[in-house]
Amino acid sequence: MHFLPRLPYDYNALEPYLDEATMRLHHGKHHQSYIDKLNAALEKFPELQNKKLEELLGDLAAVPEAIRQAVRNHGGGHWNHSFFWNILAPINSQGSTLTEKVRILLEKNFGSVGEFEKQFKETALGCFGSGWTWLVKKGDGFLAITTTPNQDTPLSAGQAPILGLDVWEHAYYLKYQNRRAEYVDAFFNIINWPQVASGLTD
Ligand code: MN
Repeated sequence: MHFLPRLPYDYNALEPYLDEATMRLHHGKHHQSYIDKLNAALEKFPELQNKKLEELLGDLAAVPEAIRQAVRNHGGGHWNHSFFWNILAPINSQGSTLTEKVRILLEKNFGSVGEFEKQFKETALGCFGSGWTWLVKKGDGFLAITTTPNQDTPLSAGQAPILGLDVWEHAYYLKYQNRRAEYVDAFFNIINWPQVASGLTD
């Protein structure tokens, strides 16, 4: 069985960038729904119920065809959201301060932190329909900005997610309506940089 993880902060902790109503709906309803549907799909496959989600998503071809799409969508939704909550932190907390290690790596891979943010934002704005924008570590060790459609995860492409932004409308529509650019700008204020740094250890 999979269960909804508790948020590592209060529902209103990311205000004004992410509002409490959106966080309650997003975590309590949308994320819960992926978990419920994942559990339902796994009901007939007890041998898969205790497997780590990373294992299932990292090798979807090994998942029985009858539930492969459900695991991809709902297992992916569960994993992506669990990851997302953890890479957010309230502004002015220790978490929201860019760490030296991440700064150096962003400069090495993108030229500057500003250039990274610019490229990440452009990619997030260009993500058509529902999906995610990611900073991933590729097999060669370099960082790259990518998108995945729907609830696909970089894990299924053999990439390690470092940072991710949910660009489904449900993530921002209550507060930002169609203004995705403002949502992306807000996101840069509430990134948990120490958590991001922990994904960069070799
Ligand atoms: Mn979402």
